[in-house]
Amino acid sequence: MRDVILLFGIQGSGKGTQGERIKEKYSFTDITVGNLLREKAKVDTRIRDIQKSGKLVPDEDVQKAIEEKIDSLGENEGILFDGFPRSASQLEIYKKLADKYDFQAKAVSIDISEEEALKRISTRFVCPKCGFIAIGPGKCKCGGELERREDDRDEAGIMQRIRIFINDTQPTLDYFEARGELIRIDGMGSMDEVTERILGAIKAYYKELAKV
Ligand SMILES: [Zn+2]
Repeated sequence: MRDVILLFGIQGSGKGTQGERIKEKYSFTDITVGNLLREKAKVDTRIRDIQKSGKLVPDEDVQKAIEEKIDSLGENEGILFDGFPRSASQLEIYKKLADKYDFQAKAVSIDISEEEALKRISTRFVCPKCGFIAIGPGKCKCGGELERREDDRDEAGIMQRIRIFINDTQPTLDYFEARGELIRIDGMGSMDEVTERILGAIKAYYKELAKV
């Protein structure tokens, strides 16, 4: 049995920061499919060519990349999936993995409204060097100069990205909800307030498990 937390949230929900905090608190290893595939593309020319052509990497390859990663983990190491599965077809991969590795899973969805997401994204500054997200201009901790991203200025584009994401992730959230494995977290308020809610909910979940 392996402990798994899956983290979901639209752009602007603070998912990246919250994921870091969960990972730290529970010493979980995070698995982000995008990063895994980027790593893979460095050593696998076939994957690199697929990515270069702008096509989606086939599900079998995604599954294999995740399996290799899980196989490299310690026996009791928990996993934090960031934004996976993000589509109906990735959900099928997830089910196979959950079966094979005997996942004990909980999905956490950080909920904010589309309007709030739009507000946060269109006012955010990003560090081009490390990806840190801030609400105003200035210097990043890493020394990079915080800047507005070109595609964060395009409101219609942001809304479209958000709606596509919501549409794609819906089957996944429905799946976890039906299994009683979904925790919804109110994503409004400060980063720290949201962290407190998330960690509180996860703590309660593990406490409940320990009783069984
Ligand atoms: Zn930085």
